[in-house]
Amino acid sequence: MNSSCPYCSKCLCDSDDHIFPRFLGGKSTVRACKSCNDVFGHSFEAAVCNHLAPVMIGLRFNGLKPTTKFIWRRAFVDENTNTEWDIDTDLEATLSKPVIEKVHSGAVVKAAFPVDEKSLGHLNRLLKSQIDKGLAEKYELKEHSMVGKRPSFRPFTLNMDHQFHLLIIKMCLALIEKFDQPKSLVSSEIRSKLTNGMIENGIARSPIEPFTALRNAVPPLSHAILIEVNAGKCYGVVQLFGTFQYYVELNGESTTDMPTLFGVLDIVNHEESFSEIKPMSLAAPPMFITVIQCQLRWNSWMAQLNEQVLRAFGKNEVLF
Ligand SMILES: [Zn+2]
Repeated sequence: MNSSCPYCSKCLCDSDDHIFPRFLGGKSTVRACKSCNDVFGHSFEAAVCNHLAPVMIGLRFNGLKPTTKFIWRRAFVDENTNTEWDIDTDLEATLSKPVIEKVHSGAVVKAAFPVDEKSLGHLNRLLKSQIDKGLAEKYELKEHSMVGKRPSFRPFTLNMDHQFHLLIIKMCLALIEKFDQPKSLVSSEIRSKLTNGMIENGIARSPIEPFTALRNAVPPLSHAILIEVNAGKCYGVVQLFGTFQYYVELNGESTTDMPTLFGVLDIVNHEESFSEIKPMSLAAPPMFITVIQCQLRWNSWMAQLNEQVLRAFGKNEVLF
């Protein structure tokens, strides 16, 4: 018999939803309604997949084999040609967009196009019209490849926007469902924020000092989800790449007594595990932090990511 959807609690469950999103390498699923599953996939999951692309590309250079293709848009500038390039997790670089340089008369003096059928069609039409108009007699075509080169990437930060918050909440709810725990662990307010896609900043917050016990409890670069009731509150913590940690209060008034629920996805060995563990009693991060604290945390996250890579692969091919 179908139970109700762990997210909207209304519809019947007619699809399987990944606990750790598939783009992060997740395999295990819970039953959910197709409507929630589709909406989440097209909205915040797709957005966060783009946010995480720079991390995945960095990890790919360090030896990780991602299960999904990620594309980091406008990842670097090739200074020889002054063109912007995308890079994907197959380590293929593609021109981000066509570049056309014209002089005052309208004559194209230089153009760069990605090597795909649509762009080459566009290029041929452009060249033909230039010659037809008498603006040029001929053009020289050169293929410019970035294969085998390691460019300097743009600095990046993770955009901790509402899409990110929605994913964190969804992962927490999926873990509760996996353990068949009551839906009342999560307040109806949080649940409706998830299903309406309406969420304010600050719902999920990161600690200033990392939850070291959580980091140390899992293999390097692992994603993890923890759900715990402590001091009358039910909260979830999601950790990504053994580094980025997000805390969300799921219910401010929870009297349910339950074990600490823990899900781990080891992205290096592609192993998932779900177990009950001893309480970690993690403290809620502050609601507000200063810009300087935020910058320091980012620096410490990047240092941590480098350390996680070193633990996982024995060396740092590229540094974050
Ligand atoms: Zn649903």
